[in-house]
Amino acid sequence: MTNVSSVLAEIENLSLYQQTQILALLEERLISGSQVTQITKDVKEMRFSRGKVCPHCKGENILRNGKYNNKQRYICKNCKKTFSDFTNSATYNSKKTLDKWIKYAKCMLNGYSIRKCAEIVEINIATSFFWRHKLLNCISEFLGVGSVDGVVEADEVFFAYSYKGTKPINMPRPSRKRGKQVKKRGISKEQVCVGTALDRQGNLIIELLCTGRMTSEELKRLYINRIGEDSILCTDSHKSYMQFAEDMELEHKRIKRGKHKEDIYHIQHINSLHSNLKRWMSRFNGVATKYLNNYMKWHKWINTFSSEKESIRVKNFIVHSNISHNYTKIKEFKNSQPIFM
Ligand SMILES: [Zn+2]
Repeated sequence: MTNVSSVLAEIENLSLYQQTQILALLEERLISGSQVTQITKDVKEMRFSRGKVCPHCKGENILRNGKYNNKQRYICKNCKKTFSDFTNSATYNSKKTLDKWIKYAKCMLNGYSIRKCAEIVEINIATSFFWRHKLLNCISEFLGVGSVDGVVEADEVFFAYSYKGTKPINMPRPSRKRGKQVKKRGISKEQVCVGTALDRQGNLIIELLCTGRMTSEELKRLYINRIGEDSILCTDSHKSYMQFAEDMELEHKRIKRGKHKEDIYHIQHINSLHSNLKRWMSRFNGVATKYLNNYMKWHKWINTFSSEKESIRVKNFIVHSNISHNYTKIKEFKNSQPIFM
């Protein structure tokens, strides 16, 4: 008969290393168990913070409709469809348990490859790839484009256009050797321009803007109504920003290359954000352009919530990806196109 004291006696006989292994295992179980409870509660509270909304038609006239599998069901009086607290979230309809998703989120926050995530969570590679983008589609929606205010640094960063994952028949040119980096000089339509703006509170806008060099019109399309009225725009000497700042009636500081003034007006924060982003992206061996926005949002999320401790970040990553109503079906997913803001 096994009881606590006999188990403890057995543990005494183990080596220190084996005891540490047991401790780690127990810790993981306990944390995961309490996380599942906490996540379910947080999703419910945050998703419907302004009252229940129907995930099918956004109707607000909602009634309780009994429980199924111990989960509360609701019915929308408008479209007559039913739903639960998790309907159309990232983990909705998953045959796997929430603790697997938590493990997966932890791998993602460590920036692991699809293969490594698959091994650790014990799911197959295709599922691993699909989970990554299901989570990121929802995280993108959760983060939205955002806004910046005050002293705003703006710049752009380029990634080689990649048709990876596109059928050869739909490709305008033969594919490049994967992961080829493109230097900023000599920008062509073969490069994707990502527009970024960062303020001193850490608010970040990061969106696919266009292919090749951006124009002031493209900048306006992205940033209109997203930069606070009395903001001071700091950029490099790229001409498009001049016209843009003038059109938006923003005070504009142009920072010359290599100039490190003591002044508060500089673009060092955005420069370091870009070098971190480039370094972080290099591990993924050339991301298909249709998924690039998801990677930008992944990095934005990591950046925004970097100060929390790991267990909180893992929990929040799952909570945030389950708040938005953005359920992706496999068939929709394969036909996706890059979205330029
Ligand atoms: Zn409805």
